[in-house]
Amino acid sequence: MMRRKIYFDPILVEEVVFLEINRAEKSGNISLSKRFFSERERLYEQKRDAERGGDSFHSFYVRYFQELGFQSIFEKAIASFNILCGIELSVIVLRVWRDQDEGAELYGDDERKTVRISIRVTRFFDRESLSGFLDQELLHISDLLDPAFCYPENSFLGEASLGGLSDMENNVIRGRFRLLWNIYVEARLQKMGKKRLMTTEERRKEFETSFSHWSREEIDRVFARLISGSSFAFEDLVELARNARLAKPIGLGGLRCPLCHFPSYQGITNWEGSRHVVELIKRDFPSWESAEGACLQCYELYCVPFSHERRAMS
Ligand SMILES: [Zn+2]
Repeated sequence: MMRRKIYFDPILVEEVVFLEINRAEKSGNISLSKRFFSERERLYEQKRDAERGGDSFHSFYVRYFQELGFQSIFEKAIASFNILCGIELSVIVLRVWRDQDEGAELYGDDERKTVRISIRVTRFFDRESLSGFLDQELLHISDLLDPAFCYPENSFLGEASLGGLSDMENNVIRGRFRLLWNIYVEARLQKMGKKRLMTTEERRKEFETSFSHWSREEIDRVFARLISGSSFAFEDLVELARNARLAKPIGLGGLRCPLCHFPSYQGITNWEGSRHVVELIKRDFPSWESAEGACLQCYELYCVPFSHERRAMS
């Protein structure tokens, strides 16, 4: 039996309980708040001459935290991911203030893993959204632990692995990677019958914006694959994020030469005055359309229509 332990930030526990009791009172659950405040008063009495705070106050809040069902939301979320159940695991739940600081991180060695979950107190006031948040974060963590996902050890999506030509490009690739991973995670959550934080339509919109340089067909194809539940490894997602422009022909806003398939920043897209070159290329690549463009090297190669070699071939 693998051991699992969840540690909650005492300040988070105290704040969540206090606010939840107040909410319960406002919505008419007077008996709960009466019991809570009178117990708390008794504790203060007992502690009047001793030091305030300490273990008894903490365990008082923990007891209410459990009674209000918050601990079991975390336990249930963790238990629904097989990979997390099969390891020695510590989960540390910390309070943060800003939504951009929320998330989950994985630490540890082969013996024992630690997941640190950073979360805002306001998450606790909508239990469905709390569960959705935990599922989303924990499936990301499961991916990191899943040998099939092949997450590179010690990778923090460093510059080297992204392959952009500048910091700016690397940031764009990183952003696209996160989006792809989120869509992939949400698709599997849906399959598991879990609630998702964003709808498919919302994600699709985000996807279209981030990959606006792709053709409609490419967007449809990749999005359909992402939400189909088929497996992706880390490198597949990085590749999609990284090659967004490389995958697209020069003439359609990308960098890939549709003839030699090499990336090129110098493409030919205007064929006026070079109709003969278009004809020659079409002979070798019948499905190629001039609108797709070609790299300068390929263009120059076909620009020599009367070379002996070509004449001999035709
Ligand atoms: Zn080329």
